[in-house]
Amino acid sequence: PPLRENARSGPRAAIVGAGLSGSLLALFLARRGFRVEVYEHRDDPRLSKDEGDGRSINLGLSARGIRALRRAGLLEELWPHTVPMRGRMIHSPSGELTFQPYGTADHEILYSIRRGVLNALLIEHAEALGGVTFFYGLRCVDLDADTGTLTLSDTISGETRRVEADLVVGADGAFSAVRRLMQRGRSADLHQEFLEWGYKELTIPPAPDGGPRTPIEALHLWPAHRALIVAHPNTDNSLTCTLFLPHEGGSSFASLGSGAEAERFFRSRFPDALRLIPDLAEEFEANPVGRLVSVRTSAWHAGERVVLVGDACHAVYPFYGQGMNASFEDCLVLDECLARHPADRGAALREYQDLRRPHTDVLAELSKENFLELRDGLRSPVRLLRARADLTLNRIFPRGWQPLYTMISHTSMPYGEALHRARRQNALLGAAAAALSAGAALGAAAAVRRLRRRTGASARRT
Ligand code: FAD
Repeated sequence: PPLRENARSGPRAAIVGAGLSGSLLALFLARRGFRVEVYEHRDDPRLSKDEGDGRSINLGLSARGIRALRRAGLLEELWPHTVPMRGRMIHSPSGELTFQPYGTADHEILYSIRRGVLNALLIEHAEALGGVTFFYGLRCVDLDADTGTLTLSDTISGETRRVEADLVVGADGAFSAVRRLMQRGRSADLHQEFLEWGYKELTIPPAPDGGPRTPIEALHLWPAHRALIVAHPNTDNSLTCTLFLPHEGGSSFASLGSGAEAERFFRSRFPDALRLIPDLAEEFEANPVGRLVSVRTSAWHAGERVVLVGDACHAVYPFYGQGMNASFEDCLVLDECLARHPADRGAALREYQDLRRPHTDVLAELSKENFLELRDGLRSPVRLLRARADLTLNRIFPRGWQPLYTMISHTSMPYGEALHRARRQNALLGAAAAALSAGAALGAAAAVRRLRRRTGASARRT
């Protein structure tokens, strides 16, 4: 229901960033009785022609994100804009396809959604609630964390204005200005790491008859030596590919200087993908190379007036497909903490940081590890065997045994707990394998003894 009445008198929240986490949090805060203003330095994403705006065009939505969006009452409207991804489709250089389902249960699937569509929907819903106003073309340039005073600069005129709020939220992404300004003069660890690989987006358009050029309900992967393509499907039967390559060195973004060179590179590494991307040369030259950064920080809030959500406090490499999902989970947890401490916002922000930070730190590690796995291991027989053993055990013991990927992507179990449980399972699997091979060794020794006895006996006989 519209919240115009209570939003008129409630405390004031100023959110910096109208991206995915800023617009979802606006909705939660409005419901909690805040008068919310959201300040975004770009244009309204609903009017922007450049859909990707230099960021990924589409994203994989999984259980954590779904849970937060359900709580926000958005799911029903969202479904028609998503494409289910039931597993990974691995492409070999010769064009052979191997399908690896994400899980054993029907609900263990991911959903591909365009960032622009999702962002627009979040903004529209927040606006419809009343009590939320979005301002565009305003950049946060200063902050007094003690008084909750933001200074915003108009991106066209350069004029500045000040805004005072009871709660300032930094939802301004990996290079958050709010984080930097909030931590100025305070003790706070900040760990920022750039991956030596970057990414570029390319398109597999629909086939001339409007159908898909490759099976649509999957996340497509082309693993190769020092190169990787990941493709998410779209509702119009196109797929958006993300080409990951090293920035420097042989076969890198630096060494592939033209569209023609990119085509030659694809012919040798990804002949199958080359057939699917008719405008490869033009797109390769036109589209920018994105950087991948991982950010962790010890201070997610300053006192009772400033707090961070989303990439601003935990940007992760995109190889687990969890950045947005974890950001949506932040919004949900922050909202729950504010509900538990209605009279003590400082306690709410402290609890939020304590509940979330250990787990998003684990996610950062997992996302880095998954990069190595996607890069090197997808076709390794040992990995495939391991994945199959995991899924088989999960089928036999659906509650007792869950692969790590399942726990991260298809449950809302805290990331750290999922990792802990996966390590226990690994130890069990290792012990079982050792017992099996010890059993096999004992069996082999007994067979050798039997053989010796027989051959000894037959030698004596001859
Ligand atoms: P952002 O989306 O970065 O939004 C921040 C907003 O703040 C922007 O609108 C920006 O313009 C604004 N802003 C910045 N500075 C200021 C300022 N000073 N003043 C005012 N406004 C400002 N996640 C998934 O869950 N699944 C996936 O499949 C997935 N795939 C990805 C693929 C790639 C290639 C990449 C790079 C990321 C992927 N992610 C994925 C991660 C996901 O994109 C991010 O985690 C998510 O966008 C974080 O949302 P956010 O709102 O916190 O930050």
